[in-house]
Amino acid sequence: MDLKEMQAAVQSVLPPDCELTKLEFEGPQVVIYVKNIKSFYSDEHLITKIASKVRKKVLLRVDSSELMAPSSAEAKIKEIVPVDAGVQELRFDPVFNEVVIEALKPGLVIGKGGLVLKQIVLNTGWSPRVLRAPTSPSETERAIRSALLSSSDQRKKFLNTLGKKMVLPSGSCDWIKITMLGGFKEVGRTCMLLQTPKSNVLVDCGMNTDTSDATRAYPYLNAMNLALEQLDAVILSHAHLDHSGFLPYLYAYGYDGPVYCTPPTRDLSILLQQDCLKVMNAEGKGCPYGEKDIKKQLNHMIVRDYGEVTDVTPEVRFTFHNAGHILGSAQVHLHIGEGLHNLVFTADIKYGRTSLLDPAETRFPRIETLLIESTYGGKNDLLPRYDECEERIAQTVREVTANRGKVLIPVFAVGRAQELMVSLENRLQQENIPVFIDGMSKEASAIHTVYPEYLRRNVQRRILQNNSPFDNPMFKHATSKERKAIVESEEPCVILAPSGMLSGGSSVEYLKMMAHDPKNALLFVGYQGAMTLGRRIQSGEREVPILNERQKLDALKVNMQVHTIDGYSGHSDRSQLLAFLRNLRPRPQRVFTMHGDEAKTDEFARTVNRMMRIETRAPMNLDSIRLR
Ligand SMILES: [Zn+2]
Ligand SMILES: [Zn+2]
Repeated sequence: MDLKEMQAAVQSVLPPDCELTKLEFEGPQVVIYVKNIKSFYSDEHLITKIASKVRKKVLLRVDSSELMAPSSAEAKIKEIVPVDAGVQELRFDPVFNEVVIEALKPGLVIGKGGLVLKQIVLNTGWSPRVLRAPTSPSETERAIRSALLSSSDQRKKFLNTLGKKMVLPSGSCDWIKITMLGGFKEVGRTCMLLQTPKSNVLVDCGMNTDTSDATRAYPYLNAMNLALEQLDAVILSHAHLDHSGFLPYLYAYGYDGPVYCTPPTRDLSILLQQDCLKVMNAEGKGCPYGEKDIKKQLNHMIVRDYGEVTDVTPEVRFTFHNAGHILGSAQVHLHIGEGLHNLVFTADIKYGRTSLLDPAETRFPRIETLLIESTYGGKNDLLPRYDECEERIAQTVREVTANRGKVLIPVFAVGRAQELMVSLENRLQQENIPVFIDGMSKEASAIHTVYPEYLRRNVQRRILQNNSPFDNPMFKHATSKERKAIVESEEPCVILAPSGMLSGGSSVEYLKMMAHDPKNALLFVGYQGAMTLGRRIQSGEREVPILNERQKLDALKVNMQVHTIDGYSGHSDRSQLLAFLRNLRPRPQRVFTMHGDEAKTDEFARTVNRMMRIETRAPMNLDSIRLR
């Protein structure tokens, strides 16, 4: 259906006194502008009727000529919205005819069945976009929100152009192929290219930050044999840098298309990329992209919630499904060529209970091909139960601190840190042991409070009741200046610091200061990549090379205790991966393994083959596989 046909279809269902003044595409959705909004609302099912006519998501806006002046509209909105909603900020966006309302309790701005929202549109003409304010101030959220608002003009142009491309006729889709550009038979730099005669779509574009070897750090983009301008879209599973870290590079070198991700993934990936840039520059490594490329990427990000079917090209559409791994993490379901083929790319999944998230989704409309992670797919990767791990972590903390020692836990600042905070709060809040949170975990936690609907029900409820676990006074945020004092103080404590594999960041700073004292403990609770400092210490080395302030190598003696508690992971262990496959509906016709050391992806592929008696394979980087 082209623009003209769509206009006619919409006009045919509008009431006679409601005038359609404009219909346009904004990326994957259709926006209609009308005059006399009151008559539009005389039929409450009208918007659904229109959506089914044009077969796309439809947004309604009032024609610019009928918008109330912002100053009067602001007064009117304050009259309409209950005071309890805790409105923090109102900003008008004349490019999208929207008013952005940031509130502590968005539910009250929306009202029962959207009643309050409707009142706002009817009375002022402005379409409200409601955002949740974080429970503690977040610099990242503030910066992202104002960057998006100040670039409305560019965003609108980008979305309009993109939308027009998506309604082009699709033609026949007689072949489908995928090419593995990174993250196959390895962990890090995940990247896959999906191609059809007319579509080139990337799924993830990660970077391996745990290696300084450039040949292993970045995905093989040059093997695409495509100019970046020819890429149609990138679909991003979640914010971790091994999936998102190389995205800004695409924008630095000519890509101008969209990145689709969930709203939390957008915010967390910006946070992580900015931090990565800072760390790489500080360590003198140099980063392949700059701040302005991250900003450009932000302007091209289109957010989609779980379950929203989204057209990417005329031949490819996708839907995100919960992956249970970190806030906003998604499995990507791709529907290619009008029912020709369905592919699920799990990315990182947790199929089990954690303190923060629901387990990964196992129901899909159709699956022919499944690509599944196998970080813990090896024969011996059977992890203890999650609640046992939680208790063992708490017990280790009790023992070390009872002996006046300090516990250093290297963690991923995004995901693991928040998971641990909720667990520690659960088990240790009566015990008066301060927990210092270093690095950007504070920002990451604040972002969690903006998206409670992505969290497990009980955490969600606490955030909605303004009793966020992350705001518990047992957690103290440590700045870089305070590190020395924390370590030198007599007080026992716990320190959560990134990076999670001691491959840089403040965990290494703490390690240097704490390693000599056998009262202290280093506690590993997450995956340690091959070749990382974390892996070396974990596997028993007690004298390790470490960079000093002059960027020269020193030998560091590790006299502190070293504990590893396996099982406290955002990844599924082997039995959870197998349970995921058993419960997966429908059954896929073939399975490819990825995101694991070589031996694990191979071994897991063999196991799946024996268990399911279907085609399985562990592809390697640079393999291309034809699916149809
Ligand atoms: Zn991840
Ligand atoms: Zn990953």
